[in-house]
Amino acid sequence: MFWRALRFFLFQSVGALLGYFFWPLHDPLRGALLGAVLAAVVWLLIDLRRGFSLLRWLRQGELAEWPELPGLWGEVGARARSLLKARERDLAQSDARLTDFLSAIQHSPNGVVLLDPQGCIEWCNRTATEHFGFDPQRDLQQHLGNLVRDPAFAAYQAAQDFSHAVVIPSPRSTVSRPMRLSVDLHPYGEGRKLLLSRDVTAVELAETMRRDFVANVSHEIRTPLTVLSGFVETLQNLPLSPEEQQRYLALMAQQAQRMQLLVSDLLTLSRLEGSPPPPADEWRDVKLLMEHCEREAMALSELLSAQSHQFTFSAPADVELAGASTELLSAMSNLVSNAVRYTPAGGKIDVQWNMLADGRAEFSVQDTGPGIAPEHLPRLTERFYRVDRSRARETGGTGLGLAIVKHVAQRHGAQLRINSTPGQGSRFVISFPAHRICVRARAAS
Ligand code: ADP
Repeated sequence: MFWRALRFFLFQSVGALLGYFFWPLHDPLRGALLGAVLAAVVWLLIDLRRGFSLLRWLRQGELAEWPELPGLWGEVGARARSLLKARERDLAQSDARLTDFLSAIQHSPNGVVLLDPQGCIEWCNRTATEHFGFDPQRDLQQHLGNLVRDPAFAAYQAAQDFSHAVVIPSPRSTVSRPMRLSVDLHPYGEGRKLLLSRDVTAVELAETMRRDFVANVSHEIRTPLTVLSGFVETLQNLPLSPEEQQRYLALMAQQAQRMQLLVSDLLTLSRLEGSPPPPADEWRDVKLLMEHCEREAMALSELLSAQSHQFTFSAPADVELAGASTELLSAMSNLVSNAVRYTPAGGKIDVQWNMLADGRAEFSVQDTGPGIAPEHLPRLTERFYRVDRSRARETGGTGLGLAIVKHVAQRHGAQLRINSTPGQGSRFVISFPAHRICVRARAAS
């Protein structure tokens, strides 16, 4: 400030000196005074010009094109510029943070909708548009009630009790693709609300399946248990001959075995669900696996119909299959034992291993049994699904065999195919991927 006052004083002094020496009317003092006044006016005009150019720059707000001014205005300009730059930097940082924050919410697996105090949509993320079928542009500022019209949600909003969520069908839900949403509202700020939505379709489906499974298992166990306790009561209360007692005990043993089979199949399924994937580098001799199945099939056929089935087993000599041997055995023997159990005495059962040209291989079991009507085929691998309940019970089925086969196949990257024509028999095929098959080179004889 001192230097500016000094500069002003010097400027005026120069004006006064010029006026003193060059005033034409021989009155040097008046000349000096007028020179000083003129110098002050010139100083003021220059100052005003600089001030206006700074003001113009501030109005335009173009940080890059700042006027380079000397003196006080230059310093004011430089300070204003550095302040504006700092503000701009802060703004850019806040913008970047907001963008990051919004992009994180955008990628949330849950739907997020911000509602203004009137209940209109201010912002929503991508998941919310998928859950509710909102159009992210068109539906902004639309009232939520006009877009989500479910009565349960309307009642939830009206009750103003947001301590729990409400489950509603998604407006995009269809019969072929049902979608259930768990929705909850959280009030915040001044009358605003945050709406969160979560797709609970899979959770609800799993819960329904769990309930059905428990009901099915209870039903399956209750039947033999009722029969068993009936026989126990009879044995306790009635004077029976030794032959009758033996007959009853044999029937009881049969029911106990049925329960054992059921429990063992349930354990197999739960092991399949909980265990790590089968090894891809442990090789099993296919011939040995098939010979094991053959022995089991013969024994079962003997037991059921005095070995009256005609079997053909064609096992390969030098082929190995990568996987878990207990699982593979369980899948193969389930298919073979089904063929034995459902094919009437005298029928033919053909078990084969075929190598395909593309390196894959198929294990197939074909029988001349009763066959299966087409409407049952898609459901055969469901747990406890049976075409004919009484027939399955007669032959000692648990209703879990094909579910186990499908599970084992999936774990080995294989596929289960079922072809059947009522009255003409059935063909069950497991086709294994090429990377699980190895053909051993035969040693030169
Ligand atoms: P189950 O223990 O009752 O045999 P599965 O899961 O093994 O249960 O089979 C499901 C149903 O598929 C059986 O109840 C039966 O109706 C039908 N099924 C399976 N294999 C055959 C077959 N080879 N011939 C005819 N029907 C079969």
